[in-house]
Amino acid sequence: MSEFETVIGLEVHVQLKTRSKLFCDCPVDWGGEPNSRVCPVCLGLPGTLPVLNRKSVELGVRAALALNCRIAPFSQFHRKNYFYPDMAKNYQVSQYDLPLSADGFVEIPREEGSLRVGLARAHLEEDTGKLVHFAAEGFSGVDFNRSGVPLLEIVTRPDLRSPEDAYDYLKVLRNLLRTVEVSDCDMEKGSFRCDANVSLRLSGSEKLGVKTEVKNMNSFRAVERALSYEVSRQAELIRSGGAVVQETRLYDAASQKTFPMRSKEEAHDYRYFPDPDLVPTELDRVWIEEISAALPELPSAKAGRFQRDYELGFYDAGVLTSDPALAEYFETAARACANFKTLSNWITVELMARLKESDTPIESSPVPPEHVSELVGLIDRGVISGKIAKSVFALMCDERKPPSEIVRERGLVQISDESELEKVVEKVIGEHPGPAEDFASGKEKALGFLVGRVMKETRGQANPRLVNEIIRRRLSG
Ligand SMILES: [Zn+2]
Repeated sequence: MSEFETVIGLEVHVQLKTRSKLFCDCPVDWGGEPNSRVCPVCLGLPGTLPVLNRKSVELGVRAALALNCRIAPFSQFHRKNYFYPDMAKNYQVSQYDLPLSADGFVEIPREEGSLRVGLARAHLEEDTGKLVHFAAEGFSGVDFNRSGVPLLEIVTRPDLRSPEDAYDYLKVLRNLLRTVEVSDCDMEKGSFRCDANVSLRLSGSEKLGVKTEVKNMNSFRAVERALSYEVSRQAELIRSGGAVVQETRLYDAASQKTFPMRSKEEAHDYRYFPDPDLVPTELDRVWIEEISAALPELPSAKAGRFQRDYELGFYDAGVLTSDPALAEYFETAARACANFKTLSNWITVELMARLKESDTPIESSPVPPEHVSELVGLIDRGVISGKIAKSVFALMCDERKPPSEIVRERGLVQISDESELEKVVEKVIGEHPGPAEDFASGKEKALGFLVGRVMKETRGQANPRLVNEIIRRRLSG
């Protein structure tokens, strides 16, 4: 047992997939000309009035239901007051003591029993603008296109016990949110952002240690690395008699270290108060039930179904259902395939490795699901060997053609014609009398050599099972 116990809590901001902003009808898009998607409301001009976007509440409720949260029948928006040049109003509209939803949980599937991570709350708020720095010219500009974009902030309880748990939680959370279609959860486009709180306490102790908050991580791996660094930094500090200071630290991806950004003394007092321009939100029970009834199958149920219906193991079912698009890809392929286990291997091993290499999402896979089913069929019917299938698969990725066409074009069909193979076997035995005698006199090892030569002669196209049979028959008679 380690001397310290790690305690981690995560705050995730996801951008909700609405067409327009939280309080005005400016479109929500990514990129584009700065300040091209703004209006008096999201610029915070005096005399304007915000109007709550119904769709963002609906998406918030969908997410809350998927996260097992209790949905508040009555919630309210508060103003969070602070100054920053990317925020024209000098306050951000957020939720405080009456959030949209609270007290949920997420289950991280583990073979030995799932790990439950408690959620304190999931609330709505608006995004701020963005500063753009022109270092060479010596000035900064502000882009308000993002200002007023709807966000859902999801806060865990301090239930995570390691950087790996944090990584797994983020994956499970993203999968859930993408499955219920509330957000694209694209970290690169800022539609999924994560801040982490981490502290250490003596193992067995109930009292929480002093925590630091880590920001500026732009991938799940970066979150894991930043937390690992922070855990060892704090442990060293405590062991050497020092004390952890409550502060916010920035993660630097290049050095994989965290650096102090601001201390507790500089912490803001946001002076929250109810936004007088926005009426409280009262949700109709019937509406919530309708949203709940329309939720798609959630990942945990889907993984269970994959294990049952496709007779896959816990690991395979987990990988295939770790992303809604991947699960759909598998199911489309499975409709034209009888060998689910082999199909799963081709998708989770070969295809995913290929996609990872080129950083391509499954949605843009160069190989359509039907072609993978076809490939598995060719192997199962003995048309091509497993070995040849690997080269066929590489060609399928490069040429985007169905496997049957590639096999036909290149003459890769497996040789299962016994008389043809017998001729090759004769030739190999004639050329290698030593090993042939060895095998005939009982040295099993020599068989491998002979089979290898036959495979080489046939450019890997001989049916290896048949070659084995023929050599045995020929030499042990
Ligand atoms: Zn606007």
